[in-house]
Amino acid sequence: MPNPKPWLDIPHDSDFSIHNLPFGIFSATGKGKRVGVAIGEYVVDLADAASEGLFEELQFDFGVLSSEYLNDFISLGKQVTGKVRSIVQFALCDQSSVLSSIEGLLVEMTAVTMHMPVKVGDYTDFYSSLEHATNVGKMFRDPQNALLSNWKHLPVGYHGRASSIVVSGTEIRRPNGQIVPDGQNEPEFGPTQKLDFELEMAFVVGKETQAGTSVPVKEAEDHIFGLVLFNDWSARDIQKWEYQPLGPFLGKSFASSISPWVVPLEVLEPFRIKGPEQDPKPLEYLQTGGEKNFDINLEVAIQTKGDDKPSTISKTNFNRMYWNMAQQLAHHTSNGCNLNVGDMMASGTISGSDRDSLGCMLELTLNGAIPITLNNGQKRSWLEDDDTVILRGFAEKDGVRVGFGECVGRVLKALE
Ligand code: MN
Repeated sequence: MPNPKPWLDIPHDSDFSIHNLPFGIFSATGKGKRVGVAIGEYVVDLADAASEGLFEELQFDFGVLSSEYLNDFISLGKQVTGKVRSIVQFALCDQSSVLSSIEGLLVEMTAVTMHMPVKVGDYTDFYSSLEHATNVGKMFRDPQNALLSNWKHLPVGYHGRASSIVVSGTEIRRPNGQIVPDGQNEPEFGPTQKLDFELEMAFVVGKETQAGTSVPVKEAEDHIFGLVLFNDWSARDIQKWEYQPLGPFLGKSFASSISPWVVPLEVLEPFRIKGPEQDPKPLEYLQTGGEKNFDINLEVAIQTKGDDKPSTISKTNFNRMYWNMAQQLAHHTSNGCNLNVGDMMASGTISGSDRDSLGCMLELTLNGAIPITLNNGQKRSWLEDDDTVILRGFAEKDGVRVGFGECVGRVLKALE
């Protein structure tokens, strides 16, 4: 619809405007897990809406709307999921629709529990922010040669752990691990002293591929269903000791948090933007033209125990990522590796070039050397127990706002 006008009151600054309509999995009193769409301060119950005939013009098994995960729904393809969104949008602008006339199809957001939106089979984390890779390279290697020689030729990434990806709101246990204390050469086992967050976006694979085939970069976006906020919790001391020569392992695999609403790629069309110029020119299979980046405002806040308001500690944007999502997916399949629906690929920490636009504590505090000060006067070199980290993201243009809601996680003390 060109200019949709909902009959429902939607707060002006809501992430979940009539233009957004992201998909998630929710439950509520009397309603087991099912597919929902966020609108303003409500959730549309798609399973019950289907029973009331809302999608009667579409030919698909409505059972997928009562699934525990979005995977089967997403597998219907963008043709179908896009039509479902359009029908919901139309119904939210039509006072005579079942959404308005039948009670219970809209549930207050405060009354629902959100669950993992997809069953993640495989998870890959990239390292695609030039600013982040440069800052980290300067701190850990050589300030003169911060980027390794491969970095501008391919989107560097590693296979992460899917089992410990959790939905926003899930508490995060401080991990134990091998740590070499400052000034020593031998490791000890104990709680991480350098717990960090990483501000990232992740996309959900929406179309499978067969082993032995590759997705051309021009077709890569057809395989991307939608995006979520992603916090790649990290234990820097464990990471520093274990990472050579095979890369991140237990310093990362204890947990990652995602926002519960998957914003379909089509929602983000108005926010396309050209990415940074790539020099040297990538190999042909990675060459993309046009607007393959997305202008999404991002921020991180920390709320300490007993503090009634979070302190924003970083503001940045997804628009400057050096490697775009199409390149990441094309590269991922360039060796014939197959993808499954629900696979998740995260961007890597998103940092800007300013002091207050950095996407993790490692950069914000220069590896703990310069603590940041929160609004309540407390200082932080790293995350402390009972700290809550909140990621937010939204895009806005010409009066249209679409957002991701929040990705929240509170740190629990380590197990003894
Ligand atoms: Mn990461």
